[in-house]
Order: sequence, then C-alpha cells, then structure tokens
Amino acid sequence: MSELYTKTLSQVAAMLGSGEVTAVEAVRACLDRIEATEPEVKALLTVTGEQALKQAEAMDAAGPDAAKPLWGVPVVLKDLLATKDVKTTCASKILENFVPFYDATAVTRLKEAGAIIIGKANMDEFAMGSSTENSAFFQTRNPWDTERVPGGSSGGSGATVAAGQCFGALGTDTGGSIRTPASFCGIVGLKPTYGRVSRFGLIAYGSSLDQIGPMTRSVEDAARMLQVIAGYDPKDSTSVDVEVPDYLAALGRENLEGVTIGLPREYWGEGLDAEVEASLKASVDKMEALGARTVEVSLSLTDYAIATYYIIAMAEASSNLSRFDGVRFGHRDKDADELIDMYTRSRTQGFGDEVQRRIILGTYVLSSGYYDAYYNKAAKVRRLLREDFDKAFTLCDFIAGPVLPTTAFKVGDKVDPLQMYLIDIFTISANLAGLPGMSLPVGLGADSGMPVGLQLMGPAFCEADMLSVAECLERNLGPMPMPAL
Ligand code: GLN
Repeated sequence: MSELYTKTLSQVAAMLGSGEVTAVEAVRACLDRIEATEPEVKALLTVTGEQALKQAEAMDAAGPDAAKPLWGVPVVLKDLLATKDVKTTCASKILENFVPFYDATAVTRLKEAGAIIIGKANMDEFAMGSSTENSAFFQTRNPWDTERVPGGSSGGSGATVAAGQCFGALGTDTGGSIRTPASFCGIVGLKPTYGRVSRFGLIAYGSSLDQIGPMTRSVEDAARMLQVIAGYDPKDSTSVDVEVPDYLAALGRENLEGVTIGLPREYWGEGLDAEVEASLKASVDKMEALGARTVEVSLSLTDYAIATYYIIAMAEASSNLSRFDGVRFGHRDKDADELIDMYTRSRTQGFGDEVQRRIILGTYVLSSGYYDAYYNKAAKVRRLLREDFDKAFTLCDFIAGPVLPTTAFKVGDKVDPLQMYLIDIFTISANLAGLPGMSLPVGLGADSGMPVGLQLMGPAFCEADMLSVAECLERNLGPMPMPAL
C-alpha cells in the first residue's frame, strides 16, 4: 500500500468505505509521506500523528460508517482555523502557544464527516502574503521545485496536498490565498461565495473578504470537501442560509454545450507571461472544442482592484488584530512595567514586519482625517467592481482567466512588498465582489516546467455548476501529474 498517497481523496474515501484499506493504513501512508518529504517541503507547523493514529484505531475498531462521507480520510488544516486542544498559531509569534478550546465550524463539520486531522499547515503570518515567505517560523517550498515558493498565503495547505502528505486540505482566501497556492502547486483550489462556508473559528484577517475552501488533487475531491463544510451556521452572522446543493451529483457532464465563457479583456492582455498565456489559451481552446462558446467581456475597474483591496483588507486587519494585545490574546512581554509599554512591547515582539506594516497602514486609512479619502472611496469602488461582474454575467455564465501572471517564482525573488501585492491582480476582485472563484491545474509552463492554473469565476452560489464545468475540462485535459518528490 506504499502508493496509497497518490490516490485522490475520493478514491481513498471509497477504499476506506469498502474496507479495502483501514483508517490506520491511510493515516500511516500520510505520516510516512510526511516523514519522507517534509524535510524538503516544510509544509506543516504541527503534525498530530499520535492523535490521528489513536483516532484511526478507534474508528477501525468500530468499522466504516457509510453515513460519514470522509470516514477515515486524513486531512490538513491551515493554521488559522481554530482546533480544540491543538496549537493554532496563524504562523505568528504572537500566537506561538495559543491552544484554542473550541473547533472552527468547518473543522467540526470535517470531524463529523469522519475526517482525521493529521496536521496544521504553514502560511503567511495572519494570511498576509502571496508566497508563504511571511511565516514567522519557516518558509514552505514548492514540491515541484523546492527553490520556488508554493504561493500563499495558504502555501502549506497547497504544498502538503501537492506532495501527497494528505488527501485534502482547507485553506482560506481573502484576496487569492486558496487560488494562488493551488495554481503554483498544481492542485485544485476553490474559494466559495462569501457566506457559503461559516467563518466561525477562522481567525479573521479581512472579515468582509475571508472565506474557507477546499484544496485538493481533483475537482471531485473539492466538491466532496465543500459538501461537508458548506452551509448556514448560526454562529456566523455572515453565513448565508441558502440550501446547499448536491455538488457531487452536479459532476459528470458530457460536454460544455450551452456554456458561455467570458474572457475579460483586462485579464488576457499585457503583463501575462507567455508560458502562462499559452497554457491557458490551450485550455480555453479545449473548452471550445467541448462545445463552450466564448465571448469577450470587460472587468473595466481591474486597474483599481489592487488599491481598493489593500485599503479595505488593511483597514479590516488593523481592527481585527487589535485583540492581540498581550491581555486578551497573545504573547505578553514580561518586563514592561506599565500598561502602554506592555502593549507596545508585546505587539512589537509578536508581529512580523508585514503584519506591522499593514496595521499601520490600516489604522491610517481609518483615521478620522483620511477615512473619506481612502476607506470610504475604496468601499465605493468595491461596489462598482461588483457591478462590473454583474454586467459581465449578463453576457456569460462563467469568467475564465489566469490566476496569476506567472508560474511560481524563486524564494526571495520578491523582496519589495509592492511587487508582491501586484501579483494578486487577478484574484482579489472575486473577494471584493464576494463571488466564487477556483483554480484548476491545466498544465505545466513550457519554460519553467511549473504548474499553471486556470481561474474560473461565476455568479454567487454557482459552485455546483462551476465545479461541473471544471470537472468536464479536467477529465478532457487528462490527469495532472504529481511532482516527482
Ligand atoms: N496576497 C493577499 C494579501 O496579502 C491575499 C492574502 C489572502 O488571501 N489571505 O492580502
């Protein structure tokens, strides 16, 4: 069973359900793979191997449970999802020793579905970044080429799935953090519609933008995980009480006849690397060959998306991170002898450079003299951006374009924070508009040999249809190989 790790989540779930493999065997296969690849990849901040094995033994003793769709399946969680009795650090020194006393709702739902948590994944500190180089602990490497970044901020989740250390992971996406590492690591990543998945127990970065979603090695796997975590939660007032469709039943369409794909002119022009463009064009040709119609559409405010996003995200971050003050939460400096000094020293020691930069900028755009000029203006542009999408969706069913302008870059290549912000150009609009988006691996770049992801975006709550289009394309493109690690 040494090759068990190469199976998809759906395949292993079926093998577990039929008794062909035991939960202990599934967990062992992952732990072996972690041992073999983790020294190079460094995807995980915590491995809960012992607990996972114990849980698997107990589950095997009781036998498979057909009512639990993920019975015995080992999964990994981004380390900003609260896990009861398991450290949850947000890859920050300020939460280095934080052990929550409750599970995030998405975690509860995975557990109830029978999944076994085997680790917590590395990330950019507080999800701020696009490469996972901002972790306070160590940098995660791309399993396809360990000199390159896995993308971020859910880079640990992306790398652990691509490396075969688990069968699926949860990431979060505030401005692209599921889709970016999925694209760089050659896996499927889905950011659901805002409100589709409960954010209860997700340590907030930008509350009006954050969504939890699956990162997996196939579209069917993503559908399976989304099925489990989606749905209304009274503990999150922004979770939406809309019926959860049967995502798996939606899959299997024969072709793409009757589907109109919009190609935004602003996404397919200048700035796109030639190898990315070539791979993406081939996948659009494939969609056309499968019967889809393509039309040019316009997301005319794309040029303003980065500025708008970074104002809103930093404003929300500065407010959300105020709770880490050494009193209510987080590291406390023991030497300070008065209150203000204690706050200052605790936060200075606990937060990394990028987090501090964003708190400062976020506080600035919310300050009384500048609120209208920055925050309010950004909120208005956000609204217009959403209208751009609404207009586009009168002409097409889905939008297709790049996830990123390039394939994964080398560790240390982007030292200027602004350079890093710019690569989010194609992902952040979906968050500003609250719409679902996904990255589907469509091939390897001709020059770099690194994975290329196609981004699909659609109207609110279109996940079932979007997954079915993606699965049809995936099936016709043939399976994405795993990296030779
Ligand atoms: N790169 C973006 C940022 O740094 C997005 C991060 C995310 O989606 N969490 O804010």
